[in-house]
Amino acid sequence: MPRKPPERSAADFFPPKITLPSLRTAAADCKGCDLWKRGTQTVFGEGTRRSVVMFVGEQPGNEEDLTGKPFVGPAGRLFDKALEEAGIDRKQTYVTNIVKHFNWEPRGKRRIHKKPNALEIAACRPWLEAEAAVVKPEVIVALGATAAQALLGPKFRVTKQRGELFESTLAPYVMATVHPSSILRAPDDETRRLEYRYFVNDLKKLARVIK
Ligand code: SF4
Repeated sequence: MPRKPPERSAADFFPPKITLPSLRTAAADCKGCDLWKRGTQTVFGEGTRRSVVMFVGEQPGNEEDLTGKPFVGPAGRLFDKALEEAGIDRKQTYVTNIVKHFNWEPRGKRRIHKKPNALEIAACRPWLEAEAAVVKPEVIVALGATAAQALLGPKFRVTKQRGELFESTLAPYVMATVHPSSILRAPDDETRRLEYRYFVNDLKKLARVIK
């Protein structure tokens, strides 16, 4: 049975005219779920309006929450390096998240990432759909399991299906790979090096599709 839509969502905060700047401005005041109370600010997507690729992560991290920009923390820097190695110009891509507010829980003085729940993901989805409708990317790339399952269904397994292309209503194709932050969390240098190589290989596959 299809999931019941949330009682309130990002759609309640949509601007009358849909453009990237108007969406960004409207999203700054979004209270479509309770995560606006946790984060410092809405972290909307960034990139050129006619990007060929849209990368979608799970949610902003600590640094993104503080700066208001997606993919700027350590994972963002690793992402930039991998894109460059794969021959993809980040300036030609659009980067965003499934959920636009940082969800966290305190651990001592630190704010530790907390996975958004299904209701929060559903409430925030209208922003992502609107971004995809304006940008019209050829490929949407989900980064990590949460984004992949939100776009490709709960049975999707990044470990088994990464790098494959799937048809989608949001864009001609969706593919998934790991989130760069998972590479940073690898238990040792050798695993980190290997995971990074697999990630660059997925991006190289993507580069062949969009050229
Ligand atoms: S997470 Fe999304 S739906 Fe929830 S308040 Fe933030 S922008 Fe709105």
